[in-house]
Amino acid sequence: MENAIRPFDQPLEPRAEWDTPMFHLAQEQFLQAAEFMGLDENLRDRLMYPQRTMIVSFPCRRDDYSEVETVFGYRVQHILTMGPTKGGIRYHHDVNLGEVSALAMWMTWKCALMHLPFGGAKGGVRIDPSKLSRAELQRLTRRYTLEIFNMIGPDKDIPAPDMGTNAQVMAWLMDTYSAQVGHAVNEVVTGKPVVLGGALGREEATGRGLIYLVKEAADHLGIDLQHATGVVQGFGNVGRHAANLLAEHGTRILAVSDVSTGLYNPQGLNLASVHEHVEATGYLKGYSGAEEVSNAELLELKCDVLIPAALQNQITGDNAERIRCRILAEGANGPTSLEADSILDERGVFVIPDVLGNAGGVTVSYFEWVQNTQEFAWSLDETNARLHRMLTDAFRRTLLRSQRDGINMRTAALIEGIQRVAEAKLQRGVFP
Ligand code: GLU
Repeated sequence: MENAIRPFDQPLEPRAEWDTPMFHLAQEQFLQAAEFMGLDENLRDRLMYPQRTMIVSFPCRRDDYSEVETVFGYRVQHILTMGPTKGGIRYHHDVNLGEVSALAMWMTWKCALMHLPFGGAKGGVRIDPSKLSRAELQRLTRRYTLEIFNMIGPDKDIPAPDMGTNAQVMAWLMDTYSAQVGHAVNEVVTGKPVVLGGALGREEATGRGLIYLVKEAADHLGIDLQHATGVVQGFGNVGRHAANLLAEHGTRILAVSDVSTGLYNPQGLNLASVHEHVEATGYLKGYSGAEEVSNAELLELKCDVLIPAALQNQITGDNAERIRCRILAEGANGPTSLEADSILDERGVFVIPDVLGNAGGVTVSYFEWVQNTQEFAWSLDETNARLHRMLTDAFRRTLLRSQRDGINMRTAALIEGIQRVAEAKLQRGVFP
């Protein structure tokens, strides 16, 4: 019988499992930055792949006992040099190892850019959570938590919400972890309900942080937000809060979208009534105070501030020429392709790149972890003031580097992060 095992003289092909468009994007962005900064190639190779990855398959039983589905789950820890690893858990029907690894790598640069004492991680389960009952979602979460139990922990790896998960999912995760160790461990996860030690302001932190940065960018470009227009793609936790907070500056929100449709009103949407409609029906579809637009049309609307806060790969070589915003504020992770980046550069669009744009989430997660480990809760004002200070500092460092070195904001933000990790790696040295 033929030996199925790979012979020793055939090299391992490490790309195979990671061979996805999103991981390529993360690696290419990294390589561009590494080349520009002249990063030592030994270090470069150490940062190209995650240090630890875990793929699990486990059963998910339906409520009616008719079916037991085999589900795939992932947890990836990109860099363990900086402290515990940190990053969200995503429930989505397309999740794969490459996507989770890309997101983990971006978490590393994001945390380092923000000077947080974490390396990057990410987790995911390949399932469509909108098709699960509450009980199914709870069983799935508890079983997934158990499957990755050895990898996570308050000093090891601290999950948080991401696309398709929320505070309730984090509460079940915390409960499952705590049941295993025999006492309540709320610091194992962030983005929890406030009653379980969740930080005040964590839920809106990503959207709030993004708008703090939009304000910085607008001031830099001489745009008055009070007379500006905005478009938001995605009406989940990030998009919803970002739209509201931008509107609080007086900016007219021309359009928003979710999976069901896009809504457009050239006079500006009445966000309060849009929220009411979503509360009542779950989706934007069917709202009567606006025209419907497709996602593609929405991205191409002329506006001052465009906020992609939905999925990856939205602004590509195909539509970048037609994007007509002045500030592109990335709430989502990986919304812009490399090809689009250079087109946007040429056209003078000011980009607030994802690793900076959505860093408010993990920053307040860090605050939550600090509060939990010290058993001491901060006020909302204190949280927001610290968030503002840290984000504006990161914005100014990034802008300064971008201007000084003549590079775009994305590469500047990545270098801010990569350089810190590279320095830490050099200081720690190689064992043995
Ligand atoms: N999932 C969020 C992100 O992509 C937050 C991660 C966290 O709070 O740890 O940044």
